[in-house]
Amino acid sequence: MNARTHDLLDPRRIWAEPEAIADLRGQEVLARFPSAELIEVDSHWQIPSLHGNEGNIDRWVRVKTEDLVLGVKKSLTARPNGRSADWIAPSTANGCAMACAYCYVPRRKGYANPITVFTNIDKIVGYLGRHVTRQGPKPAPNQCDPTDWVYDIGENSDCSVDATVSDNVADLIRAFAGWDGAKASFATKYVNRDLLSLDPRGGTRIRFSLMPEQESRLLDIRTSPIAERLAALDDFVAAGYEVHLNFSPVVLVEGWEERWTTLVDSIAAATGENFKKQAAVEVIMLTHNRDLHEVNLGWHPKAERVLWTPETQQAKQSQNGALNVRYRNDVKAAAVARLTDIIAERAPWLTVRYAF
Ligand code: SF4
Repeated sequence: MNARTHDLLDPRRIWAEPEAIADLRGQEVLARFPSAELIEVDSHWQIPSLHGNEGNIDRWVRVKTEDLVLGVKKSLTARPNGRSADWIAPSTANGCAMACAYCYVPRRKGYANPITVFTNIDKIVGYLGRHVTRQGPKPAPNQCDPTDWVYDIGENSDCSVDATVSDNVADLIRAFAGWDGAKASFATKYVNRDLLSLDPRGGTRIRFSLMPEQESRLLDIRTSPIAERLAALDDFVAAGYEVHLNFSPVVLVEGWEERWTTLVDSIAAATGENFKKQAAVEVIMLTHNRDLHEVNLGWHPKAERVLWTPETQQAKQSQNGALNVRYRNDVKAAAVARLTDIIAERAPWLTVRYAF
């Protein structure tokens, strides 16, 4: 663990289900952090002192830095997706040590959601292997990939940081390296150079998430700086990863067009031919949420000045009753068109996999 990772994650307490303590993976994590106190819990879902939205950023950050949870993933299913990936793989972790203001990952455990590692990795890899076999060859290209079935392995966490806690991500990358016709995929805002020494053999797609520097400094709390992410792109291609980009969330704040143009130019300048010939990007406009807005007002009101803009947003009640907001259809359509034009003009080599 390097010095910067240590700032992000320095576990003092490990809360663990008995079954997770008994697992080999659980034992490995405990051995990795020998000075952490072990606290047995019945369920990784119910640790009132860790989860919830109360308190301020200092408290969340301390919990995210100093607490880890070990649990067992009970239900193993791959859910169909079809947007960024064909399938959402059963997660091997949830929660995150970073604290982006727009993040929807804390929606179920609250903002103070430290990383929970699932220790039954053998079962998860076994399940995925059988799932891949059952699919057979992909019948036709789609927006996820022309030939491979794509499995998102990082829906509820950031795999680059998870990989500093356990070998779950390394095990998945190795497994997908050996499975024909399937590919793992995850979006990340953290540069973990230890992943460069694995041998993914094209079986893992990393989607580096990018936004203009100014927005990132305001919203991407505790993540790797944009310049560091840009500097990593070529290296991950050279190491055998497929490297895509994730422009997300696109936040429409005054001057965004100029700043996105600068960012697209910076990507072009920072990368060589090998990256460019395999590059693709997904573009996702900001979705926000009233509960998250209320929470953010308590610790980061400046972020809310750009995230919560009722004059350009419309509301949509989600199935679970939460009130989500997104840009009005006309605003969004114009912004998607403008940003895809910028990409086409400044980086014609960059395929837009989808934009919405
Ligand atoms: S890095 Fe991803 S998972 Fe972590 S806080 Fe940011 S958006 Fe959420």
